[in-house]
Amino acid sequence: MKCLKCQNELAQNIKFCPECGTEVPKPLPKPNEIKQFPPILNANLAAEFLTISRAQLYMLIREDALPWFPMGARKAFITDELIAWAKKRSRGGVNNIIQADSSCQRVAN
Ligand SMILES: [Zn+2]
Repeated sequence: MKCLKCQNELAQNIKFCPECGTEVPKPLPKPNEIKQFPPILNANLAAEFLTISRAQLYMLIREDALPWFPMGARKAFITDELIAWAKKRSRGGVNNIIQADSSCQRVAN
């Protein structure tokens, strides 16, 4: 990478050009690095994963049999099952939910 102002060759991960002091722009994150989700989600993460509010999440649990399982006194969700559910549901006209699929990357297996 070269400095935008003076064309000096720059080392990686530096913030300013050592020759002219111009700030080096940060590279944009790759799409699948933006957000990572574990394979098991709590309600907050599940809502974030599906890009819906917690109220919507609980509404879906009541109305649509969104897949979940009890973890102690709380509800937990399996990421893969949510993806399958979102794919099935997106055919019925819910578009934003399917974004969850492309932003998901397992951090553990
Ligand atoms: Zn420079």
